[in-house]
Amino acid sequence: MTTEIYLDSNATSVVLPAAIAAANDAMGRRYGNPSSTHATGLKAKAILDQARASAVRLLGVGNGRLMFNSGATEGIQTAVLSALVALRERRDAGEAIGSLLVYGATEHKAVPESLAHWNRLLGLNLTLHKLPVDHDGAHSLGALREVAPRAAMVCTMAANNETGVISDLAGIEAVLAQTASRALWLVDCVQALGKLKLDLSSTRIDYAPFSGHKLYAPKGIGMLYVRAGAPFTPLIMGGGQEGGQRSGTENMAGIAALGAVLAALERGDTFRGNAELCAFRARLADSLRAALPGVVFNNPFDKALPTTLNFAVPGLSSRELMDVFDAAEVRVSAGSACSSSKAAPSYVLDAMGLPLWRSAGAIRMSFGPLADEATIDAACARIERCGAALRASCLIPSERGAVPHDGLVQLGVEGACSWMVLDAGSRGCIVIDPLPDHVARIESYVRCQNYQVQAIVSTLPNAGRAMLIEALGRHFNRHVDADEYGWPLHAATIALANGASAPAIALGGQALACMPCGAGDELRAYLLGAPKDGRLPAAAVRFAFSARPAQQALAAVSAGRTLLCPTRDEHNQFCSIAEPVATLAADAQLDSAALDAFLQAHPDALLIDVREPYEFAAAVTPAWAGRSAHSVPLSRLADHASVWLQAEQTPLLFFCRSGNRSLKAAHCMRRLGHRQAYSLNGGLALATPLPLAA
Ligand code: PLP
Repeated sequence: MTTEIYLDSNATSVVLPAAIAAANDAMGRRYGNPSSTHATGLKAKAILDQARASAVRLLGVGNGRLMFNSGATEGIQTAVLSALVALRERRDAGEAIGSLLVYGATEHKAVPESLAHWNRLLGLNLTLHKLPVDHDGAHSLGALREVAPRAAMVCTMAANNETGVISDLAGIEAVLAQTASRALWLVDCVQALGKLKLDLSSTRIDYAPFSGHKLYAPKGIGMLYVRAGAPFTPLIMGGGQEGGQRSGTENMAGIAALGAVLAALERGDTFRGNAELCAFRARLADSLRAALPGVVFNNPFDKALPTTLNFAVPGLSSRELMDVFDAAEVRVSAGSACSSSKAAPSYVLDAMGLPLWRSAGAIRMSFGPLADEATIDAACARIERCGAALRASCLIPSERGAVPHDGLVQLGVEGACSWMVLDAGSRGCIVIDPLPDHVARIESYVRCQNYQVQAIVSTLPNAGRAMLIEALGRHFNRHVDADEYGWPLHAATIALANGASAPAIALGGQALACMPCGAGDELRAYLLGAPKDGRLPAAAVRFAFSARPAQQALAAVSAGRTLLCPTRDEHNQFCSIAEPVATLAADAQLDSAALDAFLQAHPDALLIDVREPYEFAAAVTPAWAGRSAHSVPLSRLADHASVWLQAEQTPLLFFCRSGNRSLKAAHCMRRLGHRQAYSLNGGLALATPLPLAA
């Protein structure tokens, strides 16, 4: 039984059971080629005709063309090619065609990319012009009015895929009419199918592409509407299928499935109406407000499809939100699906003028008109679970104090990082090289676990601590005199292994010693370890923090097992040792098929979940039935690495959701000299439910 709640319908939808049945029928019973004139072919052709007739009625195709194709990207391609070929012919015939190819700033990338591609290939050399949108995501009609007289083609969408914002198509049409524009007009109707009433032939729209997989049909099937009289050039030539408009033997399974969806839309007995969908959205929004304090919605509900919520939470990145939702088995996406792996700012939200934190931290939650009460109930409960997991991990404010962490925490594991040394016993903490980006995170961590920050130190002079000091308030004693590195002026001293005496701050049973290093001594390094009789012998130094590898300076005061913790970590090294061993990375990946055998062979293996604690806490199904796994997020890897290195014969099996983070952990341990560190390839996503270990 699946526990997954799928709320990413704008990326793709589940397939309607009736559509699956229709596809099965088209592949099983009615498998014929619709171009064949025998009875088997005629049976298949009936499917095609029925699906087209449904689409024609539903979309108000009138005398226009309606052809099946592989999806909206192909439809956009065909429309752009058709328009641009006609424009070139008109220009060659001496007609004025305008100089601009205008497209909405929030269009799906398929539109500007196709415009640029065919403009270049056809040698038209028109200028691509981005039409701005307002704060609510609506096309600026004023800007359109200005450019319409010079526009050769105008491309706008009916509803946006990231925000659900509905375009004012009547307003755009009015501007085109008022300016007597002769521009050809493409309207991307992908997100509108089944959600907005369309009567295409009663409009001035020339081209309208559709995609099946956004509304309960499978991927690889779509449609293109072309207005009667609008220019048309086939993209694909061959056997003359689709009336010569789109050759290639038809995707009959896809057409049958899409036909079943269109039939359900026509009957009106399958999908929910606007009012019910609005109520579902309101419930999800209420749950998000309750679970994630400060949540802001990036899309105006009154101007958007009710099936899309787009939001951001102050202090949380889209990656973190994605991860916690995914652990709770609620599938959402970060910004737009295409950019989600990079979690780049969303160009759609940027175009709406939203601040970077909202655009880069955006999460899209989208459902379809097939959604039911039970799913929305379950989604609301999971949202609450995610909020609780984030509160327990101090990522969002909580009334109750959280269980304090102990040891070393690395913030911002990609690129630049900040370090926190925590001592739960004394509730004392030292922050090393805090970055402005991490101020909010450090502050919430400290506040929520009720730590007192003893020092905020940096490896470079004048690195800027004011923001963090301000944010920490009473959790930092600002009256202690400190130098330009933030180091307290009146610290006690400790003897280092090289005989030098260094100032040191005590933290529980440990000491953080400070030493100059690097050219001109303008850099500082910090050594952390448990002192013995006022000395910090090399072997006792567990961690050394430095701005860049200051190995020479550190060699005399640390040991081979001392972990060097960098303050820049572009390559996700987490930490290193002075003399790295050859990496045996080639066999660091373990396929899920080999998992059982691995566990049998290594009953002593440590199973380590490197997902963040909030993911661990939000998980609804335990990753390992019958065996316990340790939760060691990447932010705590350095801390635990130093312990694991003491027991090199114990195999380490890291896992996470996709195998990405766990591979970084396994590589890190291999680099540090642990030869039995492995990563579960493909992660929990491919391995759930993980096999029961004996
Ligand atoms: N246009 C919009 C608005 C979309 O959301 C998508 C899909 O993400 C496309 C076009 C491309 O559709 P297809 O996947 O059918 O090529």
